[in-house]
Formats: sequence, structure tokens, C-alpha cells
Amino acid sequence: MDRQQEFVLRTIEERDVRFVRLWFTDVVGSLKSVALAPAEVEDAFAEGLGFDGSSIEGLSRIYESDMLLQPDPSTFQLLPWRGEVEPTSRMFCDILTPEGTPSTADPRHVLKRQLDEASKLGFTCYTHPEIEFYLLQSAELGPHGRPVPIDNAGYFDHVPDGVGQDFRRLSVTTLEALGISVEFSHHETGPGQNEIDLRYADALQTADNIMTFRTVIKEMAMQKGLYATFMPKPFAEHPGSGMHTHFSLFEGDSNAFFEAGREYQLSDVARSFIAGILHHAKELTAVTSQFVNSYKRLWGGGEAPSHLSWGHNNRSALVRVPLYKPGKGQSARVEYRGIDSAANPYLAYACLLGAGLKGIHEGYELEDPTEDDVWSLSTAERRASGHDPLPGSLHDALRTLEDSELMADILGEQVFNSFLANKRAEWEEYRQEITPWELNRYLGML
Ligand code: GLN
Ligand code: MG
Ligand code: MG
Ligand code: MG
Repeated sequence: MDRQQEFVLRTIEERDVRFVRLWFTDVVGSLKSVALAPAEVEDAFAEGLGFDGSSIEGLSRIYESDMLLQPDPSTFQLLPWRGEVEPTSRMFCDILTPEGTPSTADPRHVLKRQLDEASKLGFTCYTHPEIEFYLLQSAELGPHGRPVPIDNAGYFDHVPDGVGQDFRRLSVTTLEALGISVEFSHHETGPGQNEIDLRYADALQTADNIMTFRTVIKEMAMQKGLYATFMPKPFAEHPGSGMHTHFSLFEGDSNAFFEAGREYQLSDVARSFIAGILHHAKELTAVTSQFVNSYKRLWGGGEAPSHLSWGHNNRSALVRVPLYKPGKGQSARVEYRGIDSAANPYLAYACLLGAGLKGIHEGYELEDPTEDDVWSLSTAERRASGHDPLPGSLHDALRTLEDSELMADILGEQVFNSFLANKRAEWEEYRQEITPWELNRYLGML
């Protein structure tokens, strides 16, 4: 048994922990949990906990449904909202096959594989997500068949006595108690829309943190009698909820994206990384924007990107290079804006990192940045300047993903196939629907 495992067992004993929840994630990014009695934890460390994977989306084919959960002791935390007395704790798990090898169906493993690829090139990948979501009165729709936000405020608004402010305060304290550092939190542009930005951490930890974050936000909203949603675009006329993510690659202690004196202080590594992401962005969009509704965000304005472009001061860009103060080269980073708050963070980060690494590996050249607002250009101007559109629907995105050798390689055969199958089924169901919009538009007219 290693030191971290011993620490977990000791803490369980000392704090009189009553339940140990084992957490893992299915292919679409839903959190799964099984509660373990404290006495079973030692065995679970040694041998893994057996479970039937066949009913978990994307996890295994029927004939190999026995799987093992291997708890990762470095992720042990008490869950503050379950109280101090006989507390409940959690650990994230890796999923193993009965032979004890990592399951290729485990999204966490998909990301670990890309992090290994990065480390073969000498890089550690850090990420910092800005997570947007809407806070609603409840999960029920209002009188006009629309969600009802908790306030009517906008970007950075300070709402005195605001429910939203109390909610953010409670959420941030709870996240901090779980060891997740928060950098900023504020009201976003839409009514009831909020943003909370997590401090940078290595990409695997960030993905775990995002899974925890979603649960915390849902729990805290429930405690306040509200409902929080990560749905990418709940209102047609208000911005969607993005999860812009900042990436950097470090070689030891130094930021490999930084080079003094170059354009935007970007090194060749950073330039090829951006080129890799842009080159493969259309292929990975099904993963970063995985729902039918995601495309209403990408194509609904509201500062969401819709075309391939990069720049440093351009809010319509798909990839943005933020400015930083002189002497702060260590904070050089690249922001990807095409991802939404409902993505599976393990798979989305694996695809983005893999695309960036491909750019580095193959020495992709980066085109000139765009400082124009891509939305204000005509189609012809966009075409002339190489601003290809992102896929316009889940259907388009799946067609592009299907043909991508790089994404098949990054996701691995099993995840690639189960993701495509799950998402094709979603699209098929959607396209059979007769929407209220169609009835309103056509019934009286035709
Ligand atoms: N809500 C916007 C999006 O969907 C982002 C707004 C912003 O933070 N600039 O991406
Ligand atoms: Mg922000
Ligand atoms: Mg924002
Ligand atoms: Mg941003």
C-alpha cells in the first residue's frame, strides 16, 4: 500500500467517515457514483471494486461487462454538504478490465493517454476553465414555456442582496473546502447567468475538478431552492454557456508557450499548438460541443465562435491569445472558446491537447491572426481569409468526426465508436421531432 492510500485509510478512521463514494464518468460526461462502506476501501485499493459496466453508457460491450473501479487516493475529499458528523467522502476512479489493465472505454484514461504523449515530448499540460451556467428559479418551465432565470442582471452586475451573489459565495466556499481553488466569479451577460473560473491545474486534475464543480453547483442550487443548468443554450435571445479553457505547456518550470520579443510573445511551440487546434477544430467539435443544443450556442451569436480564426484581442475568435503583463511570461496561454459547459471534460481536453500536440509534432505553420470581428465579414470575405465555418449542427459535426483519423486515434476505437453511436441516436431522435417553432410557423400558414 502506498502513502496516499494509507493517508486515506487513516483519515477515514480518524474522521469516522461513514460512506466513501467512488466516482467515475461515462462517455457523455455524466458522473457515476457508488457508495462503499469504509471497511471495503482497503480491498478496493488492493484489487479494485468489481461492478457491471454493461449498463453504463459507452463503457463496455455486453460480453465483457465485468469491470473494476480503482480509486485514485490523491482525489480523496470529504463532501462538505453532507455534514461533519459521520461524513461522506469521495474518490475518483480509474476503470480497469478484469485483468487489471486500464479500460480503453474509460474517459479518464483517454485523457491520461494524451498527457503521456505530452510528457514524452517533455511537456506538462495545464488548463484553466471559465465555466458558465444559468441559475433558474426551478427546473420547471415558466408560463411561456421558457426557463425562468433568478434575476434580470447582466455582465459583472452587482445585485445588492442578490440571490446570485449568495449562491456564488456558497459555491466558492464549498469548492475551496474540496480543494478546488477559484480565481474569479461573476454575473455573466444573460439573466441569471453566472461564471466561475477555476485556478489552473494540470489537465487531469482540471477535468476531475469540472466534474466535481458541476455536482457542487447543482447541490448548492438545490440547497437554495433553485436550479442550475449547464445546458449550452437555454435561451435563444441570450448568450449560451461556454467553458472557455486556457491551455499552456510547461517544460519543467518554464512555460514553453512564451518567447520574449516574438509576435504576442508566442514561441514556435505555441504557434504550432494553435495551428494544430485550428487544423483539427472541425473534427473535434462534436466532442467539445456534443449536444443538439450546443450548435444553437455556436451559431447564436452571444460571443460564441462560429468560424476558424485566432487572434489576441478578438472575442469572435475560436482561439484567443490573452494579453498578459510584461514580466509575466509564465502565464502565456492559449484560450479555446469553442467548448461548452456540457462537454465531457476528459474527452474534450484529450482531443484539444492531442490536436495541439499533432501541430507541434508535425510543425504545422500558423496563419496570420485575425483582428477583425469574424461576424462582421461577408461570407466571401470570410472565405477569402480562410475562416472556414465550424460544423453547423450535431449532424455536420458527427460527419466530420467520423472521418477523422486523428480523433479515432486520440479517443481509441471503443470510445470513438460508442460516442458516435450515442450521438447519432440523439440526432436521429431530434430530427424526428416536430418543434413548437414549426407548428407556430407552418400550421396557420400552410
Ligand atoms: N457566453 C459566451 C460563450 O458562449 C462567452 C462570453 C464571454 O465570456 N466572453 O462562449
Ligand atoms: Mg471569463
Ligand atoms: Mg464568460
Ligand atoms: Mg474567456
